[in-house]
Amino acid sequence: MLFSPLFSGSSGNCSFLEAGKARVLVDAGLAGKQIEAALRAINVEPGTLSAILVTHEHIDHVRAVGVLSRRYKVPVYANAACFTQMERSIGELLPSCCRIFETGCDFYIGELNVTPFKISHDAVEPVGYTFSHKGRSVGLLTDTGRMYEHLYDAVSGLDLLLLEANHDIDMLNSGPYPEALKKRILSSKGHLSNEAAGKTLLRLYERGLRHAVLGHLSAQNNDETLAMSTVEEILKSEGASMRLALAHRDRPCAVFHLE
Ligand SMILES: [Zn+2]
Ligand SMILES: [Zn+2]
Repeated sequence: MLFSPLFSGSSGNCSFLEAGKARVLVDAGLAGKQIEAALRAINVEPGTLSAILVTHEHIDHVRAVGVLSRRYKVPVYANAACFTQMERSIGELLPSCCRIFETGCDFYIGELNVTPFKISHDAVEPVGYTFSHKGRSVGLLTDTGRMYEHLYDAVSGLDLLLLEANHDIDMLNSGPYPEALKKRILSSKGHLSNEAAGKTLLRLYERGLRHAVLGHLSAQNNDETLAMSTVEEILKSEGASMRLALAHRDRPCAVFHLE
C-alpha cells in the first residue's frame, strides 16, 4: 500500500492512496489543476483514479470533487447526507458516479477495504476513514473537535495515521479570528489542537501505534515547527518514541510505502 498526503490544511485537503489496482483520493479540496499536478508529480495519471472519497461537505474538502469526477468519470463515495449537502458546491455528478455508503459500514474498492467512521465536526455527517489491504492499514482522522472513545477504537491497530494538529491554542486565542469562529474551532465540533493531537498520539502509542503524520494545520493559528515540537514533547515526556511526519498545506509531503 502507498499513501501520500498531497495537501493538508485549512486551505485545502487531498490525500492519495494506492493498494493493488485501487487508486483513491480522500477529499479534493483544492483546484482541480493543483490536484492533477500533484498527482502527476508522484507519477499518477488523474484518469487512472478509481474513486474519490469524501469526508464532509466543507469547501476545503470538496472544491474539485465535481470537476474531477466529471472530467475523468471517477466515482464519488460519500454518505447520503453529505451528498445532499455538497451538491451546491460540487454541481451535478453523472448518476453512475454517485456511490452512497453508510457511515460505520465497511466496503471494498477493488481489493482495498474501506471503513468510514463518524467524527465530531460541524458538518452534516462527517467521517474519518481507515483503509486496509493485505495486512497493512492506514487511517485519516482530521476535522474532529474531540477524541471520543469510539474514535480511539476506530483508529487502533493501524500502521500509519494521519491525525489533525490544527492549531496552537494560544495562537488561536490571541489571533485575529472573530470570537465566534474561535469558539467554533475550540468546540467539540471544531478541530484538534496540537496539544490534543499529542495526547491522542500518546494514547494510541499505548495501543501500538508507531507512525503518524500530522495534518490539517491552520495557516493562521499554527506553524509546522510548533506543531511538531508540541507533539514531540508530549510523546517524549512519557518516553514514547514514534515516527512522526508532517503533511504540508501547499505541497505534497512524502510518499509512504507500507509493505
Ligand atoms: Zn471541516
Ligand atoms: Zn477541514
